[in-house]
Amino acid sequence: MQAGAGSLRVSILSVGSEVTSGDILDTNARDLARMFSERAARVTGHRAVPDDLEAIAAALRAALAEADVVVVSGGLGPTADDITRDALALVAGRPLVTDEAVADSLRARYVQLGRPMPEENLRQARLPQGAEILPNPFGTAPGIALALPGGQRVFLLPGPPREMLPMAERVVERVAPDLAAVRRTLRVHGLGESQIDEWLADLMGDGNPSLRPYAKEVEVHLHLTARAARREEAEAMADAVEEEVRRRLGPALYATRGESLEEVAVRALSERGESVAFAESLTAGMASARLARVPGASAVLKGGVVAYSDEAKRSLLGVGHDTLAQEGAVSARCAAEMAEGARDRLAATYGVSMTGWAGPAHGDTQPVGTVYYGVAGPDGVVAVVRHHLGQRDQVRRHAAQTAIDLVRRRCLGHYLPPTGRPEEAVRAATRRQGGA
Ligand code: AMP
Ligand code: MG
Repeated sequence: MQAGAGSLRVSILSVGSEVTSGDILDTNARDLARMFSERAARVTGHRAVPDDLEAIAAALRAALAEADVVVVSGGLGPTADDITRDALALVAGRPLVTDEAVADSLRARYVQLGRPMPEENLRQARLPQGAEILPNPFGTAPGIALALPGGQRVFLLPGPPREMLPMAERVVERVAPDLAAVRRTLRVHGLGESQIDEWLADLMGDGNPSLRPYAKEVEVHLHLTARAARREEAEAMADAVEEEVRRRLGPALYATRGESLEEVAVRALSERGESVAFAESLTAGMASARLARVPGASAVLKGGVVAYSDEAKRSLLGVGHDTLAQEGAVSARCAAEMAEGARDRLAATYGVSMTGWAGPAHGDTQPVGTVYYGVAGPDGVVAVVRHHLGQRDQVRRHAAQTAIDLVRRRCLGHYLPPTGRPEEAVRAATRRQGGA
């Protein structure tokens, strides 16, 4: 069976009551899935079943109904609960026979140990008629490969990862064409997962190239994989999808080679010889700290002011009495004045502020998660409001993320984030005159 790019279907089955009971984590399924996904194979699903003949047989049948290759781990040991080989014999309709070479080597082992061999041990030399033994260099239970009349193949591997993994490498080499795979993570901030899904619907899916969304806490990642016979071909396929995603999502797509948002912001500032200062209320320094993690931040991060109380907003940033009295600390005007205060006092190209309700406290009309951001630059100041979901810490992480993104967008000339969500209306720019 010759598989084209991404067309080999692989189903993964984990056998063991220790897995289904939750005693151990099914790392075999994860590792097998990753190994096959990195080649020209599509994993159609994972199953886990207890050490029960009927359950294993049913899972094998279900896996064979959906895949060209079924890879099973676990249940190949010498004890009575190791019955994966029996289940395969049942499903394939073949008797179990003893492989004399394996039986001899098992006996020889016990001679070496100077002990009598329990008869049970010979279970490990049994295999469905017509099957092939897969050597296990790191244990006694060999694996089993069986080709079915329709061309499907089943591989049984031992459960212990130390034994299973090297054997799985050889199975992968054997069944999955070695295509070059290019994997990229496209990082998006400022658009919700459902919005992205709508705009990219026709690009999403498990084909080749494949594009899959992962909603992270404060942003969305798109995993892009392209496979082809040659690396340059795969790169070109990935480039085409990346360009189309960029065209549709615009500046919300901020990185395609694994860079963090703060790295992108620092790079944008330093390329332009510009700098930023933060005025942080609810985040109390999180945005400054994230920027400072990036090597080279000293050239672009002037500093940050943690202005938690009204008094600090007045004395450290020059926020007006009237502003606080009339509009409160969680307001567009306060955010704008905080941003200008940070910009002026720290002599930065941009001042960026955040002030809002992290929770559980909230305003009379403002729910938890309401955050105002100010962005001050050489040509004036704008304030935007966002409504973040989550508990206190999550709101604070959203706020730090959004502030850093505002730095990036402002620096690159996109400072009003497109939102697509009407309730997140962008507040009008307020170029300050005097103290207003
Ligand atoms: P078995 O081949 O079923 O006798 O499994 C022997 C041992 O391998 C188990 O006790 C686990 O420690 C380990 N093991 C079996 N299945 C898995 C799995 N799916 N993921 C990780 N470890 C496993
Ligand atoms: Mg077991």
